[in-house]
Amino acid sequence: MDTPQDILRALGLNADALTGGTLTARSPIDGAELAQVHEHTVAQAHSAITRARQASLAWRDVPAPRRGELIRLLGETLRENKTALGRLVSLEAGKIVAEGEGEVQEMIDICDFAVGLSRQLYGLTIASERPGHRMMETWHPLGVIGIISAFNFPVAVWSWNAALAIVCGNAVVWKPSEKTPLTALACQALFAQAVQRFGDAPAGLSEVLIGGREVGEALVDSHTVALVSATGSTRMGRQVGPRVAQRFGRVLLELGGNNAIIVGPTADLDMAARGIVFGAIGTAGQRCTTTRRLIVHESVADALVQRLHKAYASAPIGNPLDSGNLVGPLIDRGSFDAMQEALKAAREQGGKVTGGERVLADEYPNAWYVRPAIAEMPGQTDVVCHETFAPILYVMRYKEFSDALALQNGVPQGLSSAIFTNDLREAETFLSASGSDCGIANVNIGTSGAEIGGAFGGEKETGGGRESGSDAWRNYMRRATNTINYSRNLPLAQGIKFGE
Ligand code: NAD
Repeated sequence: MDTPQDILRALGLNADALTGGTLTARSPIDGAELAQVHEHTVAQAHSAITRARQASLAWRDVPAPRRGELIRLLGETLRENKTALGRLVSLEAGKIVAEGEGEVQEMIDICDFAVGLSRQLYGLTIASERPGHRMMETWHPLGVIGIISAFNFPVAVWSWNAALAIVCGNAVVWKPSEKTPLTALACQALFAQAVQRFGDAPAGLSEVLIGGREVGEALVDSHTVALVSATGSTRMGRQVGPRVAQRFGRVLLELGGNNAIIVGPTADLDMAARGIVFGAIGTAGQRCTTTRRLIVHESVADALVQRLHKAYASAPIGNPLDSGNLVGPLIDRGSFDAMQEALKAAREQGGKVTGGERVLADEYPNAWYVRPAIAEMPGQTDVVCHETFAPILYVMRYKEFSDALALQNGVPQGLSSAIFTNDLREAETFLSASGSDCGIANVNIGTSGAEIGGAFGGEKETGGGRESGSDAWRNYMRRATNTINYSRNLPLAQGIKFGE
């Protein structure tokens, strides 16, 4: 299973789907062409939405635990294909093998979670103020869920949404990133295998639309799509959010982050350094939860920054398929250019930059490998407040804890945050209402590497959505409040007398 074609075949992809199309899929590892994929037209997108609608009408009447069985089979299929799908993630998104496989493990985990959930879609029973009455909540499927996803988690984000949406009784239509169409087609092929094992799922329960923005816009504007779950840049969310709101549809936005780690004077610096390095250079800085800012107490700053420089100097950069490497390529040239612009701005704004240059250009002239950069900044300048989707760690020093918190919260994004400290007061203050303003706030672990059991997402320009664990399933259902009168009278609420 060495060539990309072998992997695609092993995952059940039809060879016809991989040639003669208008969208060229390339590997960021070496820029090589992987396939020419067929794009969907807007008309085809509408047909897919209609098929999904039909499927949802049948699926909503299937008992939820039976719906869970389909997702259990999807989880099994993913287990059997973990290595192959993980490798395809590495080939198409440039992740190191452990992270490619880790992403598939995340899919398996959310399937397991969703199977349990399929027997736990609970509503409340509520005390009625009227005698002989009972009140309750029931949760019903929404219908069709649109999923728009980013290149950097090309398979996990689909599964977070799809596994939950499907056990909740919905059908899904997925528009993956145009940079990662093959992993999406592979997921669809694996889903089809699960459906075959299941036996009687309606056709159209999961649809995939290959293409760019126009196809995504078809989902955004369709009145048939009850919820649009969109993962990507804040720029994208700014366009998608208001358009869906215009038609009173629902949105779940998972947008950009600008995640910080605070390191206090009592921190275990070994642990902090490990957490920072994994968070800042893993996936070459292309995770939404990547550590982009380090806010370090002046008493430990020199020691910590020295450790980071040492770790950065020895971090192996190269082909992510070679097990020794920890840092793979950037997704494309645009990403490299954006990184260089940000580093230029950082210098202009008084920063001292180390690293950031292109490496391995001779070996891989059509790929974009960089040495991760550390930029020691005089303060939280303009460039620090933006998310540049590349491995740049901005370092700022602080004296007072309140200043560290102000820096942490002083950016427009609000996804992930962390503090390394052994001071209980600092840790608890960080987690309190007046502490971190992010959707994720951690103590003594870094900003990235969330588990599926918790709700995932962030505040402010990160969009406010929550996916994955906890009660995120409620996003995919509508709530009905029911009042049942089992008495022989019709008393009105609030004691109102009407014509008596
Ligand atoms: P992107 O915004 O360029 O694209 C994301 C998706 O949106 C793609 O499928 C794209 O085709 C689609 N899209 C873009 N404009 C659209 C429009 N107007 N209408 C409909 N669809 C549209 O993002 P990217 O470069 O693929 O991914 C990187 C970004 O995603 C980063 O900002 C990162 O932080 C963010 N991200 C966030 C999370 C999260 O959970 N918060 C997870 C992963 C990535």
